[in-house]
Order: sequence, then C-alpha cells, then structure tokens
Amino acid sequence: MARAMNASRKMQALDALESNVRSYSRSFPAVFSRARGSIMLTEDGRKVVDFFSGAGTLNYGHNNHRIKAAIADYLASDAVVHGLDMATPAKIDFMELFNTVILARRNLEYCFQFTGPTGANAIEAAIKLARKVTGRQNIISFTNGYHGMSLGAMAASGNRAYRTASGVALSGATFMPYDGYLGPDVDTADYLQKVLADESSGIDCPAAILVETVQGEGGINVAGREWLQAVQTVAKSAGALLIVDDVQMGCGRTGHFFSFEFADLSPDLVVLSKSLSGYGLPLSMVLIKKEFDAWQPGEHTGTFRGNNLALVAAMAAIDLYWRDEAFGLEVLRLGEFMRHRLETIAVKYGNSFAVRGRGMAFGFDCQMPEIAAATARGAFERGLMVERCGPVDQVVKFLPALTIDCETLDHGLEIFEQALNQALKRTRSS
Ligand SMILES: *Cc1c(COP(=O)(O)O)cnc(C)c1O
Repeated sequence: MARAMNASRKMQALDALESNVRSYSRSFPAVFSRARGSIMLTEDGRKVVDFFSGAGTLNYGHNNHRIKAAIADYLASDAVVHGLDMATPAKIDFMELFNTVILARRNLEYCFQFTGPTGANAIEAAIKLARKVTGRQNIISFTNGYHGMSLGAMAASGNRAYRTASGVALSGATFMPYDGYLGPDVDTADYLQKVLADESSGIDCPAAILVETVQGEGGINVAGREWLQAVQTVAKSAGALLIVDDVQMGCGRTGHFFSFEFADLSPDLVVLSKSLSGYGLPLSMVLIKKEFDAWQPGEHTGTFRGNNLALVAAMAAIDLYWRDEAFGLEVLRLGEFMRHRLETIAVKYGNSFAVRGRGMAFGFDCQMPEIAAATARGAFERGLMVERCGPVDQVVKFLPALTIDCETLDHGLEIFEQALNQALKRTRSS
C-alpha cells in the first residue's frame, strides 16, 4: 500500500516535471525500478514481462550479468571511459574482435566509423558519406521507412506526424514503394529499376539507396530475399551506394548477426546501433567498404563517439554469443515457436489479422488501431510490455530478448492472447 502510494506520487512528479514530449511513460504507466533478463520490476512490486526490449536495444536482456561483469571490471580498473576518439585498448580490441568473429567469418570487409551515440547520428554519417562519394544528393528510401529524428534521417523517414514536427522542409530523399507495398502481385523493385534507368522519370540520380530489411517502426514489414537482391543490383547499376539500416534488426534480431545475411547482400555501408553495446549503453557505428572511405580526418565528428564502456560491453556480447552458430540457431528456433503461436492466435480470433516477421521480430497486424491499442493496454495491465508500430499504430510488435527462456516467452504470449481476446470482446460489443 505504501509502495503503491509512493509509486503514484512519483508518477505525478514525473508528469509535473517532464516535458509534454514524454511518450513511453504514457504507454507504460509505472515506475520501473529494476530489471533482469526479460523481467522488469515496478516500484509498486509488479513484475512485467518485457517484449519491447527498449525498441530492440536489449537483445541480450536487461542487465545481462555476464556483460555486466565486463563493465564492472573495466570501471574498477580506472581504464579510460571517455577519450573522444583517441586510441584505447578497448576500441582496438573491439575492432579486432568484431573483425574476426563477425566480419571475417561472413567474408565481409569493412572499416569502422564510430559516430555520435544515436542511430540517427550514424544514419546522418552514412548519408553524408554516400553524398560525398557520389557527388549526388538524392537518397532513395522506402515507404514506411524509419531512420531517426535528425533532419537528414527524418527526410528519409516516412511517418507524416514526425515529418511535420520537423518544422522545416525536409529534402534530399525520394520515396519508393517497399517490398509488398502495392500488394503481392507487384514487384516494386521493377518499378525502382525502371525509374532509375529512365532519363526522364523525374527521379534524380541517387547517392544511395537506404533500406531496412525488416521495417521495425513501419509495421514489421518484411522484405524478401529476391527483392533485396534486386535492390542491390539496381543500386550498383545506378552508381548508388547500398546502405542497410540495421539499427533495429541487426545484432541477431533476425537470427543472424546482420539482418541482410539471409539474402547474401554485400551492402556498401551498414549502420548499427541499438543492441550493439548489448547492455543498453549508447553506441553506434557505420561499417564502410574500404573503397568508399572518402572521409577527410575529422570531417564527421562528435563528443561521444565510441564510448569505451559501451565498447567493452559490446565486446563481451560478441564474445559470449557470436563465437559459433548456436545462438543464432536458437533465435531462429524460438522465432518459429513465436510465429506458430501468433499465427494460431490470428486464425482463432479473426480472419483479418496478419502475422509478419523474421527471426524474433514479429508484428501482429490488428488492421484496426483501436484493437491494437486496447490489446497493448490490456497486456500491460496483465503484466506484459508490448509496443505498437505501423502507419497508424495498428500492429502489435514483439521484440522479446533473444536470450528469453521458453517459459517466459510462452507466458508473455499467453498474456497477449488474453488481452487480445478482451479487447475484441469490448470493441465487438460496443
Ligand atoms: C531506432 C532507429 C533509428 C534511430 O536510432 P536513434 O538511436 O533513436 O536515433 C534508425 N533506424 C532504425 C531502423 C531504428 O529502428
């Protein structure tokens, strides 16, 4: 009782002090005090199963104790935490490990650019570099794409409400239909190929094609292997760089370290952020094919690039999970279990529902935003955190930690089903 009062007083203080811009504290109205793995604890003593994972930032769970040990050791040793982008053992060791364990085994060769700590900053850097390399301005991006809140990244993002909030004209990007945007019978890569080859299509020659292989914020829209390969071919023949935004779908989310591996792509630039540090510490980077590393020293800079503590955490995560194939295979196995459960629920409760996803990223498309909203709200009341996505937030999104145990995963899906059932009863009776 006292704890509940304390928690409600804290929420009131938050409402009074924090800007109106706050958002997730509204979707998930509780004060979260502690977390471990896939469970978050609220101040008033509730347990919440986390299927949101910080929008894909916590692929290895909250406070993963094995990663935490590496961070604690580093802090205890008085090693350099902040050093701008000066050389430190942490940075060099990270690059060497990433190079051997992640890149070399996949026959990939990149150099590393550590950008400011947000995904948006890494996207800005990638876009800037592509423009510099090609001497062109236009960035081809896709309907329902999301790349971040800064102006360059926002110009390449579809969401109308966010674009409007920019307050200035957003320029330098042209939108093309994503895979499946015009229904199953239209190959939108053909259209892309056509407008870029046509001297009179009105579409300026692109510096880059910027793509997510699964659109996270856009509604868990999944691009197919052939479509992605076709986009890569189009980029090459148009003289544009292919940039894969792997901020949300990278770091194992789709069952491989990179989301583009299944399609055998060889992107010119790859952008990583969210789960890169493996611990929720801010860390972002752009992987650059050596022939496109056209930067002058210091041409893209920033105070918090390659934070050493985050690099130490990232190193621990790679060392723990990516030295062999077992972890990725387990992600695929859990993902198939999720797909099966979600598809069964979709069939059971109504024929207009659709389940989309790859690896352990799933979307349950309720078609109607009010059903998705009521389901997410009801789920939270029952102890499950799920977020919504898609153009009108009509999709319930599932991003559980990749390290989740079967029992907790099953329990969370159970809560989702109950919440959906309840939401449908309410909407169908009103
Ligand atoms: C979250 C996200 C970004 C932006 O990252 P921030 O750290 O929020 O700036 C860019 N692209 C994708 C695909 C994302 O999911």
